[in-house]
Amino acid sequence: MRIFDAPSPNQDARPPGLPIDMLVLHYTGMQSGAAALARLREAEARVSSHYLVEEDGTVFRLVPEERRAWHAGISHWRGCIGLNDRSIGIEIVNPGHEWGYRPFPALQMAAVCDLCLEIIARHPIAPWNIVGHSDVAPDRKQDPGELFDWEGLAANGVGFWPEAVPPAPADAQAATLLAAIGYRMDLPLPLLLTAFQRRWRPARVDGLADAECLARLAAVAARIPAIRPDRP
Ligand SMILES: [Zn+2]
Repeated sequence: MRIFDAPSPNQDARPPGLPIDMLVLHYTGMQSGAAALARLREAEARVSSHYLVEEDGTVFRLVPEERRAWHAGISHWRGCIGLNDRSIGIEIVNPGHEWGYRPFPALQMAAVCDLCLEIIARHPIAPWNIVGHSDVAPDRKQDPGELFDWEGLAANGVGFWPEAVPPAPADAQAATLLAAIGYRMDLPLPLLLTAFQRRWRPARVDGLADAECLARLAAVAARIPAIRPDRP
C-alpha cells in the first residue's frame, strides 16, 4: 500500500529486549484529520503514533516501527504495562465521542485492514494482542469505540471474532473472564465491562453483565491462551 511520510519528533528508542507484540488502535478524537495530524507532529504535544489513517483511506507514517511512538500512555494488558514500549499505534481519524462520533467509512476501514495485515506479517503480534486504546486504558479512554468494525477486521484476518456464541457456563464469573482476556482488574467492574462491550458486544454498551455479555466474555476468553507470568 502507498504510505505518505509525515515524520513526528515525538518518538524515542524502544527499550532493548522487548518484542513488538501488540497493536493498539485509536481514534483521533479531534474535529478534523488535518488538525489531528498537525498535533501528532507538534513537539509540544508530546504525543504521536506510528500511523494515521484518514477517512478517505490515506495513510501517513509518523514514526518508524522500530522506534517508540507515544500513543498509549498509562496502559496495561495481560500483565504488561507501559505498552508504548512494545506496541505499534495507529490513529484512525474520527471526531470521537466528544466531537460527533460517526461510523468509520469503508475506504478508511479497508486501509486500516491492509495496514494491520502488513504490520502483523512483520511482527509476532497475536490476535488477542490487537486491542483498542479503551482495552488497555479503560479508566481513561473510549477509543476507537463501539462503531469501529472489529468484526469486519477479523473477517479479513486481523484479530478474531467469535461467531456462534453458546450460553456461558453456569459458574461463569465476569471478573474471572475479564482477567483471563487481559484487562487490568483494579478498576470497577462496570467500567471494565463497558470496555469489553465497546470491543466485543457493541450493540449494547451499558457496563452490565447480562446473559449475552457473559456468553461473549466466555467465548472470547475461550479463544485466548492463559497469561504467562514470565512474559518479558
Ligand atoms: Zn487513543
